[in-house]
Amino acid sequence: QAGPQTMGFQAEVKQLLHLMIHSLYSNKEIFLRELVSNASDACDKLRFEAIDNPALLEGGADLQIRVSYDKEARTITISDNGIGLSHDEAIANLGTIARSGTKEFFSQLSGDKQKDAQLIGQFGVGFYSSFIVADKVTVESRRAGVATSEGVRWTSEGQGDFTIEPIEKESRGTDITLHLRADEDEFLSHWKLSEILRRYSDHISLPVLMQKEEYDSEKGEMVKKDEWEAVNQASALWTRNKSDITDEQYKEFYKHVSHDFEDPLAWTHNRVEGRSEYTQLLYIPKRAPFDLWDRDGKRGVKLYVKRVFIMDEAEQLLPSYLRFVRGVIDSSDLPLNVSREILQESRDVRSIREGSVKRILSLLENMAENKPEDYATFWAEFGQVLKEGTGEDPSNLERIAKLMRFASTHTDEPLQNVSLADYISRMKEGQDRIYYVVADSFNAAKNSPHLEIFRKKGIEVLLLSDRVDEWMMSHFREFEGKQLVSVSKGGLDLAELADEAEKKKQEEVAESFKPLVERLKEVLKDKVKDVNVTLRLVDSPACVVVGQNELSPHLLRMLQAAGQ
Ligand code: ADP
Ligand code: MG
Repeated sequence: QAGPQTMGFQAEVKQLLHLMIHSLYSNKEIFLRELVSNASDACDKLRFEAIDNPALLEGGADLQIRVSYDKEARTITISDNGIGLSHDEAIANLGTIARSGTKEFFSQLSGDKQKDAQLIGQFGVGFYSSFIVADKVTVESRRAGVATSEGVRWTSEGQGDFTIEPIEKESRGTDITLHLRADEDEFLSHWKLSEILRRYSDHISLPVLMQKEEYDSEKGEMVKKDEWEAVNQASALWTRNKSDITDEQYKEFYKHVSHDFEDPLAWTHNRVEGRSEYTQLLYIPKRAPFDLWDRDGKRGVKLYVKRVFIMDEAEQLLPSYLRFVRGVIDSSDLPLNVSREILQESRDVRSIREGSVKRILSLLENMAENKPEDYATFWAEFGQVLKEGTGEDPSNLERIAKLMRFASTHTDEPLQNVSLADYISRMKEGQDRIYYVVADSFNAAKNSPHLEIFRKKGIEVLLLSDRVDEWMMSHFREFEGKQLVSVSKGGLDLAELADEAEKKKQEEVAESFKPLVERLKEVLKDKVKDVNVTLRLVDSPACVVVGQNELSPHLLRMLQAAGQ
């Protein structure tokens, strides 16, 4: 058999390890949450694979996690009897970071401890957090279903490399042993560990066991008994009654399912009965993940069927414009062997999806109404994604539109905080349309010559400059019976707002400029469709407009850039 083999960490891992140890020290006990969270994921995966291949359980279907400590050796061990790691999986999963958004994460690091700690949290802390408290970590594992001779031992001091070697391992699953750094002895106590486990891991659906202890009056200290007991509730959080769940528990569960480090912004938890039965516990994060715009970024929620984990990132359960939502959906109707292909076509899935969209929109409406500051945070992080809903989900267009916030000439600030209702409440007498301008940047929108006449007349115009805006406006043409009109399109009829004297003046001006217009038409013959005298400009002598029914220059540029 091969002996130990030493391999270097991927450069990013080294950097992450260094950052983690230095930036997250004040939060060091999170290592336990991360390791228990991984152990729980590993058991979920085994239970799922065993649906098709029961032999994987090797006769032991009682999945559990054990946490123990050894005062003499100064170690803590977290064991699970989940899916385990093969030799190659250990190298790939514990030696590299293969996650979308990695590049962006590293490019945003600033060297400022606090900011970086937040970024790491957002990126996902994970297994490497063990090195915050340990100067050596040993992972012994055997994948479910393989021979006991095919175990693997992975060891590292969290510097530049790790060692990997084959071992004989009787039990299925993974044991992770942390050799504590000097000064970390506080963790070598039943009281301390169980307190942390209760705080961070109570929502884990498997039992997290610790060895019972008893006071021995002869020795004058606590001694371990031969009996293990669960220190958590060991029932899946979403299956409990709302009234039995504290906010803290909801938040910790969020961190477990989302791999986020920060609290969520809001959540909604419902049991739906009727034609289709399911439970949903859905969260809105506080911050956009690094891969929000990545094509292969993380999407969707975890799917369970009757409490059995089926898959991560079940993107069929939510439309793409709600891809920032995290959480769990547990269906009572779907078969255990459901595949992504089946999800695509299932009627149950369609009804779950519709129901979930309604819940999320209600949650957002509620937030906009009652917690405007939270809503502002939401909009700044995810507004651009929600806007995609205008095209993707026409059936909810009205609700999505009400949730939108815009910059406008009312404040002339880039902050998007004007709702369509705000706009309508400020409409001028006789105005029956909502005006907007789209440009590449906020400044370009704000300084558009097309706005001159509107500013002069005191008519508010929405200033749009997000990447999706042009596309969005091609789907979004009306709100509460009012047309949405671009100020840069031709044939803009401001007559409704002009008074008699102005109309008369326009006719006179048009008449007197006729010779010039004719001459311009002659000169620009091949370049433009038409030349007109306009009232739209106040300070600029001329501007180019797009025909009523034509693509705007901005959209044309986008299409060209996309190779159309
Ligand atoms: P994440 O949990 O976000 O995937 P981690 O850094 O926490 O990232 O873990 C990295 C990977 O290591 C996991 O995705 C998993 O493949 C593997 N892993 C970690 N702990 C275990 C375990 N106890 N059993 C099996 N695999 C594990
Ligand atoms: Mg993890």
